[in-house]
Amino acid sequence: MPETYLCANCRATVTREFSVRSVIRTCEECGRNGRFLHTSLVDSLESIPDSDRPDEWETMPLDERFTDALKRGLIQLTR
Ligand SMILES: [Zn+2]
Repeated sequence: MPETYLCANCRATVTREFSVRSVIRTCEECGRNGRFLHTSLVDSLESIPDSDRPDEWETMPLDERFTDALKRGLIQLTR
C-alpha cells in the first residue's frame, strides 16, 4: 500500500511504496529541497494541544515542529 508524505514547507503530498519517517527530496510545488514527513507523523503533530505548542508554532514548517516536539517529548517515535 502506498504511503503518503507531506512537504514540510508547503504540505504538497507525494506517495512512496515504503514506510519510513521521512524522505528527503526536492518539492515540485515549492521548489524546496527538504524533508517530507510521513502522514502519521503529521497527525501526531496535529494532535499536540495548543497549550503545548510554542508561540511560533504557526510559522514553523513541519520539520521544525517535528524536531521541537520530539525534543520536548511530546511525540514518541514508533518506527
Ligand atoms: Zn513543498
